[in-house]
Amino acid sequence: MKLTAQIKLLPTPEQADLLLRTMEMANRACNAISAYAWQHGAFRQYDLHHALYHDLRQQFPLSAQMVVRCLGKVADSYKLDRATQRTFMERGGIAYDSRLLTYKEGELSTISKRLVEKAKDTGRAIALEDLSGIRSATVSRAERSRHHNWAFYDLRSKITYKARRRGVPVVLVDPAYTSRTCHACGHCEKANRKRQAAFVCQACGHCDNADRNAALNIAARAEVNQPIVAQAA
Ligand SMILES: [Zn+2]
Repeated sequence: MKLTAQIKLLPTPEQADLLLRTMEMANRACNAISAYAWQHGAFRQYDLHHALYHDLRQQFPLSAQMVVRCLGKVADSYKLDRATQRTFMERGGIAYDSRLLTYKEGELSTISKRLVEKAKDTGRAIALEDLSGIRSATVSRAERSRHHNWAFYDLRSKITYKARRRGVPVVLVDPAYTSRTCHACGHCEKANRKRQAAFVCQACGHCDNADRNAALNIAARAEVNQPIVAQAA
């Protein structure tokens, strides 16, 4: 999902505590996975999954998706090199994707409203992927399946609808290659996109969350294509 929304969660103190403890727990799991990977020279997610998944589920009170995400995070961290054992900070970021985050009724509405209001207040346009050519060969099967995600479509249509009502321009951008192009140096290669979540540039070594990297490319394309629209109030 390349629709990257920066969301400020406003949890109750109990929810904040739970999120924090989940984060710490996930990073402890990552450290356990990394230690195993390092000791056994097993760095592929597939191998780590088979060796550790059941133990991890017993050892850590984390959801299945979260354990899978931790295995992926560790496997990704060894993609660049295997020279040092990776360790993870207690409060290191854990990527929540649409399978980990479930939206309550009304939340997508709030998110889209804030996004549109923010664009309106700051005189900016909103860039979205142009999905009309989504069947083209440049879009991977994995990406296509994410476009079928319900939350993705729902949020998209809410943004489009509200932007139109508030007079905020929506710029549609051809998404071809945005997920495999490095936002730092422009190098385009399929291997840059290591996994769904991880972007590692094969040319300059730039690492980023894959969705974030793609979103920055989308924003840059929108600017290049429509400089005047982007300034419209
Ligand atoms: Zn690069």
